[in-house]
Amino acid sequence: MNYVVTIDGPAGAGKSSVARRAAVELGIKYLDTGAIYRAIALILAKSEINPDNEDFLSEALSEIKIELKQNSVLVNGFDVSGEIRTPEVDELASVYSAVPLVRKALLSLQKDQKNYGSLIAEGRDEGSVVFPDAKVKFFLTASPEARAKRRYLERISKGQEADYDEILSAIKNRDLNDSTRKLSPLSVPDGAIYLDTSDLTEDEAVNFIVNHVKEALSNETK
Ligand code: C5P
Repeated sequence: MNYVVTIDGPAGAGKSSVARRAAVELGIKYLDTGAIYRAIALILAKSEINPDNEDFLSEALSEIKIELKQNSVLVNGFDVSGEIRTPEVDELASVYSAVPLVRKALLSLQKDQKNYGSLIAEGRDEGSVVFPDAKVKFFLTASPEARAKRRYLERISKGQEADYDEILSAIKNRDLNDSTRKLSPLSVPDGAIYLDTSDLTEDEAVNFIVNHVKEALSNETK
């Protein structure tokens, strides 16, 4: 039987790298739901669809086809994996993902992924809304300062320009948007294991998750 592990939490808590590595160690798929929200926000913004215009939005959403590959996201056949990783799309995704029509359109796409194999779904509402029956749920967080420092170092290591104070304020702003929106606000799902990664290495966080999942799976077969 396929099983689901969810990892939710705020931007920059290390969810993506931890989820990706834990999925490899467990031999299951990794579902990056932020990439889906980013892809849809990018295409809606490019088409100049205002998030408040419900009629245009509904029509546009019905014409957008998103395909998920293991390491890429395609929108209407075009690979947008590179284009969605910019500070501009950080903001756009946060704005469009607060729109109920957008969340509704992406719900079944996410749920369906369970039919293709066991997976780790990483995002904001995976354990609360998308997969409330997940086998193990985690909530990964870290202080805004620790998260901003990681983003800063990540950008510098890629040779990109980075300003720590700007990154910190963007993170605080996204936290506020994601946790105060009406639908599916960022919150700790019922039954989730809470992990603060501020003082943990990535290896420690990956081991924590993999060990918990293995334990849950072995308890089930006892
Ligand atoms: O995780 P990532 O930073 O790539 O997500 C981009 C944005 O997509 C988040 O800031 C959030 O607004 C939105 N998102 C969401 N629900 C999810 C995953 C992402 O609202 N399950």
